Amino acid sequence: MAKLYLVPTPIGNLDDITLRAVEVLRSVDLILAEDTRTTSFLLRHLGIEKPLKSHHKFNEHATAQLFSETIAAGRDIALVSDAGTPGISDPGFLLVRTCVEQGVEVETLPGPTALIPALVNSGFPCDRFCFEGFLPQKKGRMKQLQRLAEEERTMIFYESPYRIVKCLEQFAEVFGADRPLSVSRELTKKFEETVRGTVAEVLDHFRAHEPKGEFVVVVAGKPTKKKKQEINDEDGED
Ligand code: SAM
Repeated sequence: MAKLYLVPTPIGNLDDITLRAVEVLRSVDLILAEDTRTTSFLLRHLGIEKPLKSHHKFNEHATAQLFSETIAAGRDIALVSDAGTPGISDPGFLLVRTCVEQGVEVETLPGPTALIPALVNSGFPCDRFCFEGFLPQKKGRMKQLQRLAEEERTMIFYESPYRIVKCLEQFAEVFGADRPLSVSRELTKKFEETVRGTVAEVLDHFRAHEPKGEFVVVVAGKPTKKKKQEINDEDGED
């Protein structure tokens, strides 16, 4: 039975592609790409030649049905995005849902994604967390943040370099200037950097150093009552 494969691709360092991802890209009949130029570059690097078709947020509603039928008719398809795992702040969900609804098999390979290394690198609890992706750019942004004001799990956000300072200012407003956070940028790339501190400290850093590259912001959850008590007890000991 043919399948839809979701294949994660590197978020910077090309060596991060898995052996199985290469094997799948080599074996499928067709590759769907968010941007065929970006994927052609990766395929050339891997020495793979395959038919490529575009599948992006502007055409996915129109093409999901067609590709699901193509798989049902016996052709294996791989879906890739420009970087990381398809479906994670990238096209993928609609095609997967259509395939699932139509009884077409779906297999997602594990592999690169920006949120996991940023989370683990933050030093905040990663046993439970919530991934918020990109906040809405304008309408509903503060409402969405206010909904998270009481969140006790570690929170992960994607943000662009153009909005990172504004985003940290809004975090100071909603979570408080002394909430710990960790900003990872350019993960797996030459200028990879993680800046940790309170919201106020990290804000100062990015006001002084022009934000460049791709960013993941990891915010510590609101301290639970038990944790607050432990902090107070420790303070009392001094
Ligand atoms: N599908 C991707 C994934 O699995 O992480 C996410 C794609 S989303 C369109 C792009 C966003 O992911 C960037 O704006 C940034 O927030 C984050 N991102 C992607 N690559 C990154 C990297 N190398 N370093 C830091 N953040 C990255």
